[in-house]
Amino acid sequence: MSFIHRGINTFLLFELISGLALTLRYMFRPKVTINYPYEKGRLSPRFRGEHVLRRYPNGEERCISCKLCEAICPAQAITIEGDEREDGSRRTTRYDIDMTKCIYCGFCEEACPVDAIVEGPNFEFATETREELMYDKQKLLANGARWETEIAERLSIDAPYR
Ligand code: SF4
Ligand code: SF4
Repeated sequence: MSFIHRGINTFLLFELISGLALTLRYMFRPKVTINYPYEKGRLSPRFRGEHVLRRYPNGEERCISCKLCEAICPAQAITIEGDEREDGSRRTTRYDIDMTKCIYCGFCEEACPVDAIVEGPNFEFATETREELMYDKQKLLANGARWETEIAERLSIDAPYR
């Protein structure tokens, strides 16, 4: 019986037709894949990507060199040196992050009292050498200038839950 059944199926190309029908059905469904890197998926406002150092709208650095981020970093990836300016304010003279040590835990961002160090939405910062992942203050401030609009928006979305 099963031999006859299989023979009829084969003769009528049943498996081929049902396979094509399945293909046809999926052709008209919304796609679950995206054409990366030309299309990108949605990121959570809490996504922890590449670090940035932010400035206030008047251009002043936010970081006050309190070193809380350096103290809390479990990977000891952050190195800070600070000094007092002529106007009495305190700012960093050195702010380095060894991105090869960083585990993207977000503790530095959580510890910062002035939202200066933030993990931004950028996840496309692969490099060819380790040296390129030794970030200094200039690099971090440049990142901040590049991503400020997106970061300010993400922080305001997340603010009610902090
Ligand atoms: S994300 Fe975590 S590991 Fe990376 S620098 Fe900040 S505190 Fe250190
Ligand atoms: S980034 Fe924030 S926590 Fe770190 S030293 Fe500057 S002000 Fe303090």
